[in-house]
Amino acid sequence: MKIRNLKTDYLIAGAGFAGLVLAERLCAAGFHCIVVDKRSHTGGNSHDTYDAHGVLIHPYGPHYFRTDAPAILEYLSRFTDWLPCTYRVQSWTNGRYWSFPVNLKTFEQIVGHKASEAEFIKWLEQERIAIDTPQNSEEVILSQMGPTLYELFFKGYTRKQWKRDPKDLDVSVCGRIPIRTTYNDAYLKEKFQCLPKNGYHALFANLIESCGDKLQVILNTDYTEVKDTVERKHTFFTGPIDAYYGYCFGALPYRSLRFEQEHYKEEQLLERATISGKQGFWQPELQVNYPNDYEFTRIVELKHITGQNHTGSTIVREYPRDWQMGEDPYYPIPSDESKALYKRYKNLSEKDTDVTFLGRLGTYRYYNMDQVVTQALNTAETVTGKPL
Ligand code: FAD
Ligand code: UDP
Repeated sequence: MKIRNLKTDYLIAGAGFAGLVLAERLCAAGFHCIVVDKRSHTGGNSHDTYDAHGVLIHPYGPHYFRTDAPAILEYLSRFTDWLPCTYRVQSWTNGRYWSFPVNLKTFEQIVGHKASEAEFIKWLEQERIAIDTPQNSEEVILSQMGPTLYELFFKGYTRKQWKRDPKDLDVSVCGRIPIRTTYNDAYLKEKFQCLPKNGYHALFANLIESCGDKLQVILNTDYTEVKDTVERKHTFFTGPIDAYYGYCFGALPYRSLRFEQEHYKEEQLLERATISGKQGFWQPELQVNYPNDYEFTRIVELKHITGQNHTGSTIVREYPRDWQMGEDPYYPIPSDESKALYKRYKNLSEKDTDVTFLGRLGTYRYYNMDQVVTQALNTAETVTGKPL
């Protein structure tokens, strides 16, 4: 579509959480916004959809909504009801499934007998390496649980995922995985863990509808196609900051993914029941991590949490890979060297009064969805002067 002579208050590039939450708040304050996205759908990487067999999947990797902030949950509750979830994960290594993240059950699997919390704490005290202030992802795990668990669950996975040694990644990367000395095996730490009841796509559709004619969302359109034709006060850009500036300091490092979907019919799942432990499922839990085997890092079977009533099931394998210029980046890489390069782009953007950057790619942060929502709400508050 050729876009000509449009006029609006704000032009926003990117229809993910960052772009659409910002647009909603600006529209609520009385402004008009145009959101453009080069993809054919809203939601950015949190987009969900039904596959050819009618199973709900997350095509850009599993998106487990979680937050510790009641205000974020309340805000999003304007556009969706919630399906409470406990995200459960196991790890597959040395030819067996392990309870993960590390908890008392994992310890029992290691020692081969039932154990007490006190026994596990004592074992951990002997295993842990004393590091006062961990400086990287290797040190954070060694200081929390020592080399045995680090080698078993973290070293291989991290190298596969990031193509970097855990020593060369921020503490925040491996540090976000909890360790517990009880039987609590929930993957995540946050207080609220839930999925939008009718999916992310429906959440975004409701958000857009709530804006009425103040908001125009134009899909299949790159920002570069409209930047000279839309008259506006200001631009907000939620795509990659280095792309916006034509990679003038070089491309920021990103990690990318390839997804492989496989659907299993009811009769094929029959023979998997001995492994999954439940009829109608391929694997025992929502997610299985593969730290040391295969080229993929994890397999996700979303039906475990969506509770979808379907006789078949779809699994998605996730293969990390290098990011190539021109593709959508997935993960900013949290390391000293990438932060230094990002800082050069950030300095440039601070002198640029025409545009504000936000979102996971716009601010080059390994942010979860709730953190992006917080950032978008804060940005809107700065513009409108009105809090939530
Ligand atoms: P995005 O969702 O990336 O949206 C940016 C949008 O901008 C995209 O739609 C893109 O097409 C568009 N765009 C880019 N450049 C242009 C351009 N030039 N013109 C027009 N449009 C453009 N978070 C969680 O909270 N829980 C999870 O479990 C979780 N799992 C994840 C798993 C994976 C594999 C990945 C990659 C991320 C995961 N996240 C998770 C993070 C989550 O995806 C992000 O926090 C969130 O989606 C970021 O929203 P955003 O709007 O900043 O960016
Ligand atoms: N990680 C690991 N082993 C695991 C799970 C995670 O080493 O079994 C490390 C790995 O470096 C990963 C990081 O912890 O990238 C964060 O894991 P998470 O599951 O939160 O990753 P995401 O969902 O963001 O891909």
